[in-house]
Amino acid sequence: MNNSVGKNNRYVRNMNRIGIIGLLRDYGSLTKAEIAAKMDLTFTAVNNLVEELMKERLIIEAGLYDDSSRGRKPKLISLNPADKYSVGVHISAASVRAAVINLQGDMLFTKHCSFEDSANRGSVVNIIISTIQAVLDKSGLESEIIGIGVGAPGPLDPFQGKILSPPNLPGLQQVRLKELIEENTELPTHVEKDANVMALGELWYGNGRHFNNLVYVDADIGIGSGLIINQKIYQGFPFGAGEIGHCTIDINGPRCTCGNDGCLEAMASGIAIVRRVCEEIGRGTESSLCSYLNGENQNLDVADVIHAGLAGDPLAANILHESACYVGISLANMINLLTPETIILGGVLANRYPDFYNHVNETSFNRSSSSFHNQMVLQPSELGEHAGIIGAGTIVFEKYLNEMSD
Ligand SMILES: [Zn+2]
Repeated sequence: MNNSVGKNNRYVRNMNRIGIIGLLRDYGSLTKAEIAAKMDLTFTAVNNLVEELMKERLIIEAGLYDDSSRGRKPKLISLNPADKYSVGVHISAASVRAAVINLQGDMLFTKHCSFEDSANRGSVVNIIISTIQAVLDKSGLESEIIGIGVGAPGPLDPFQGKILSPPNLPGLQQVRLKELIEENTELPTHVEKDANVMALGELWYGNGRHFNNLVYVDADIGIGSGLIINQKIYQGFPFGAGEIGHCTIDINGPRCTCGNDGCLEAMASGIAIVRRVCEEIGRGTESSLCSYLNGENQNLDVADVIHAGLAGDPLAANILHESACYVGISLANMINLLTPETIILGGVLANRYPDFYNHVNETSFNRSSSSFHNQMVLQPSELGEHAGIIGAGTIVFEKYLNEMSD
């Protein structure tokens, strides 16, 4: 009983620390009294929390509050973006991006490398490690960097930091990534599913601020989602939650990489869109994309289809529209199941093709229960293609704040 009260107090304290960091991120600088009012806490409680955060040099004094009234002017407090940094790493099917991130969510010293062969374990692992090392070397901040956060394709075990069997990146199958990165960099490393870090990134630095419960949907080469409940990543039991891409959308649909038939990912992902375009061209449908194929599918990728759709190619536009319809239906199911406060729709399809976003919005609204969708807001990703890298770096700050001693 006492133990659970202790844990609960610690949880509240951690959430309050994160809350203060969030307010300072939003407002720039605030007085302790302003923080107390905004968080509905006593001045003494805020004073204690501020002292702890100052001791860790996460926040600093930033001059005096000037309201031109008489009397003693209270001190302003702001984030300290120049003392502790993290490295955010976003691994996708074709490449790895890394950047140093400060507490304000700014990306510094970025590096992007493509995988030469996504099925070759040695080559994929080497490119990931050398990309991280390049960012560390370039930054000259090694002693100020407190850890490395990695967002990688699932399924993966975030507790062991081990990648399991990502269908689009076979080179990382069964790789103990956390161990490998820690051995090479001597920095504590956290590995989490890509869509989960994107959700956390939006919660801290993007359109998820001011919400406690949200879903981030990554509509990209694959389709996944990350769930935030009470401002924390919801991992499921023991992990793996959010696999919206592998929920069946058509019982007679095409075979998915997971072995099931008609998954959302097999029907609507970037890979499925390219496959659908190729099928239609094979049936003789006219399209500006015919020239890409030359009898093979290898030269066409989803960026080309988006480009053609934006230029008014009817085949590309129709298939992107069809994909948005499936994603919209999946979101409607999610709205009815979870009633989140907000859903943030990101990934290359939503970020780069406005009609995709608009059609998902319309479909999810029309197909979900009115008593739920009227309370919920669908939003685009504010961090866009940087959601993964910033979110991965955010994990490090979140863990640091959670592990600070009281
Ligand atoms: Zn599947």
